[in-house]
Amino acid sequence: MNRHTSPKTQARLADFMDGLNRRNPHQPEFHQAVLEVATHIIPFVLENPKYENARIFERLTEPDRLVTFRVCWEDDEGNVRVNRGYRIQHCNAIGPYKGGIRFHHDVTLSVLKFLAFEQTFKNSLTGLPMGGGKGGADFNPKGKSEREVMRFCQSFMTELFRHIGPYTDVPAGDTGVGGREISFMFGQFKRISNQFTGALTGKGLAFGGSEIRVEATGYGCVYFMLDMLKHHGHDLEGKTCAVSGSGNVAQYTAEKLIQLGAKVVTLSDSDGTIYDTAGIDAEKLEFVKQLKEVKRGRIQEYADHFHCEYLAGKRPWAVPVELAFPCATQNEIDEEDAQTLVKNGCIAVSEGANMPSTQRAIDVYQLNGVLFGPSKAANAGGVAVSGLEMTQNSMRLSWSRDELNTRLRDIMAKIHERCVKHGRQDGQVDYLKGANIGGFIKVADAMLAYGVM
Ligand code: NDP
Repeated sequence: MNRHTSPKTQARLADFMDGLNRRNPHQPEFHQAVLEVATHIIPFVLENPKYENARIFERLTEPDRLVTFRVCWEDDEGNVRVNRGYRIQHCNAIGPYKGGIRFHHDVTLSVLKFLAFEQTFKNSLTGLPMGGGKGGADFNPKGKSEREVMRFCQSFMTELFRHIGPYTDVPAGDTGVGGREISFMFGQFKRISNQFTGALTGKGLAFGGSEIRVEATGYGCVYFMLDMLKHHGHDLEGKTCAVSGSGNVAQYTAEKLIQLGAKVVTLSDSDGTIYDTAGIDAEKLEFVKQLKEVKRGRIQEYADHFHCEYLAGKRPWAVPVELAFPCATQNEIDEEDAQTLVKNGCIAVSEGANMPSTQRAIDVYQLNGVLFGPSKAANAGGVAVSGLEMTQNSMRLSWSRDELNTRLRDIMAKIHERCVKHGRQDGQVDYLKGANIGGFIKVADAMLAYGVM
């Protein structure tokens, strides 16, 4: 909402959020995600009464379907363990439900509803025919043996399989779900459905996976930053960058930054941050990949190995950098972190993680002219290549790495263009507004065409 917002619009937004909070009590992440979008969509629908009259935005804040289920499995000591699994099928107006599966101890209905809601806008922004969904479980893969993870994934899929399929709902990975977990789940899906179809993406290359999928979210996040910088007369080369996290998105964000000549000085995990003033190079990054994907160790081991500073219990945002890439988790940059980033000369933020900046942090960026690439635009590269994996599976062929990288680059450039087109505000580009409105229109028009349902 900007300073020209009328009292009528402000009242409508307040009324809308009151209703949403009442219908969805104790779901703070979901409230936060909806407010971030409603701030732009409420004024937009009031200016475009066809959407307001059909109550499109109200409908879009109520998921099509929520599925929750019990997941029982046996640990290595023979104890029976019970977790809760979820699939949120948020909206399939423009294509089958599509979105990742998260395994993390803090997974709740609120977290998955926020992710599924965001996913609907993100998938629309890619220009590909994908609806929005998300799923997961409150299962913590950390410290579990390979066999325990396998048994959990198989049990999870034994229930989930009846809700998914290539024309219905196509899950992928997310936090705690990488290639290993997708493989266990796809194996079980294939076995019990007796079908070899593209019902999951992020599969191994030997069984229907796509080149560039592993790299896509991180690479896309850097491409989006590159386009924001170029559009505003800046360059990426030589810039000092903070990246948070050390999982899939963080690793490939760092990789692309290094390839393009930027200097990456941080990575982190939930225990702390490494600060390498010499810069992380390709060789050091390979160490991180082995550490995280094979050894499943902690990022502190990087500091011990390469003799750099380790900031125990700290996030990277107090380190002086020009560019920030939050790639770990939601709400990892708060107002104070954002102020510190600005004070230290940060000029742009591109979000690899989903909703990593709090609303107050976003306010700080906007007040200080920091270019802000919101997650639904900046990290859409992952789902975009998942969409391309679905296309390749349907056609029963595989495109080359170069072809896929070119398509990813093109999709990210088009997302940037859409954000610029819909995000003009007082002579500037408000990328959050652009992403929200750009993602909304296609879904809303499809819903209008279907009539009331
Ligand atoms: P991974 O599980 O591969 O890595 C997550 C990283 O974030 C780990 O380093 C983890 O550290 C850290 N982390 C997780 N929770 C916290 C926390 N509470 N505080 C500090 N650090 C934390 O996940 P991904 O890289 O796949 O996903 C990261 C983010 O990117 C998520 O927000 C996800 O939704 C988003 N995303 C992912 C996509 C993908 O293709 N994978 C696509 C689009 C968005 P630790 O090991 O200590 O937990």
